Amino acid sequence: MTTSTTIHAYAAHSEGADLEPFEFEVGPLGHNEVEVKIQACGVCHSDLSMINNDWGASQYPLVPGHEAIGEIVAMGEGVSHLKVGQMVGVGWNSDSCMHCSPCLSGSQQRCTSLTITIAGRGGFADRIRVRDIWAVPLPDGLDADSAGPLFCGGITVFAPMMDFDLKPTDRIGVIGIGGLGHLAVQFARAWGCEVTAFTTSMDKEDELRELGAHKIVNTKDKDALKKLSGKYDFILSTVNASLAWPAYMAALAPQGKLITVGAVAEPMGIPAFSMIMGQKSVGGSDTGSPDMVARMLEFCVRHDIKPMVEYFDMKDVNKAIERLESGKARYRIVLKN
Ligand code: NAP
Ligand code: ZN
Repeated sequence: MTTSTTIHAYAAHSEGADLEPFEFEVGPLGHNEVEVKIQACGVCHSDLSMINNDWGASQYPLVPGHEAIGEIVAMGEGVSHLKVGQMVGVGWNSDSCMHCSPCLSGSQQRCTSLTITIAGRGGFADRIRVRDIWAVPLPDGLDADSAGPLFCGGITVFAPMMDFDLKPTDRIGVIGIGGLGHLAVQFARAWGCEVTAFTTSMDKEDELRELGAHKIVNTKDKDALKKLSGKYDFILSTVNASLAWPAYMAALAPQGKLITVGAVAEPMGIPAFSMIMGQKSVGGSDTGSPDMVARMLEFCVRHDIKPMVEYFDMKDVNKAIERLESGKARYRIVLKN
């Protein structure tokens, strides 16, 4: 397999701009780096937020895409645990120092000098180069075309279930059933939990039951949440908008946890007493380590969990982004090369 120093990608050149074909040069493959020929790449809401500079940190030209799947076509010196020809996935992170405290303690996603994938590379491209540990092999039995969304959407909801100790006997509510939420529902169901999907889109109801939700709550109905006081051990929000957070706190059982992975811009305004009474807590969560990604992939194969996806050609990336923006995607868009 030959490698190339020219990457053909799609980039936004300014805030909110359409993506355009964009070529950039990369030098010789670095120590511990691998080059992946991209077969497919999911489109996450964070790509849209980065294109639009919603978080004030975007640099242009920006090549989005951080749910990439493909084959390793070249390996730099020092890569010993992977093989050319192997299928791997790349998520939000693509390099970590391996010697800071988070790296040494197994939380490489919190490396003090972390490089994220869409800073300078990105999966809306024909190839991508990343540090070897961030190219996580696909286990047998996982469909490569649709696996991309597990590498950001999937790990982002799987990791808090692990880290905040979700129990199989818990009642969990998942707020917002898009790319992240539809995976959270499947994970929580396989975990053994009683699963409630909180949605603004009741037209998703039948699919949400198929994905594993025991109950569906229409969050446009203001009274619906009031009836659920004290019910949930765990509520996971994947929504990037301000919600009635005090009402969700009231829906938590004693010692319940409200965890957001949705990147809400405004302060959440949680009254202290809503945490004090019943020792409830509020938290957030980032992505996950390569080890946790690998465990999640195994979990998916064992429980037959798959992203539900809509495919677009990579060249139709702007149509794909428009579709994501419309809120109509069911439930994750994947671009194919
Ligand atoms: P998505 O596919 O667009 O899904 C978001 C869902 O939220 C929608 O499908 C919708 O579900 C619901 N929603 C949207 N607008 C809403 C509103 N105004 N009020 C109430 N509900 C609303 O997005 P995604 O890719 O899953 O990403 C979700 C969020 O997670 C984004 O903020 C993204 O940046 C963030 N994220 C964070 C991390 C991390 O590391 N923490 C990683 C990846 C993504 P219903 O139709 O069911 O209501
Ligand atoms: Zn993402």
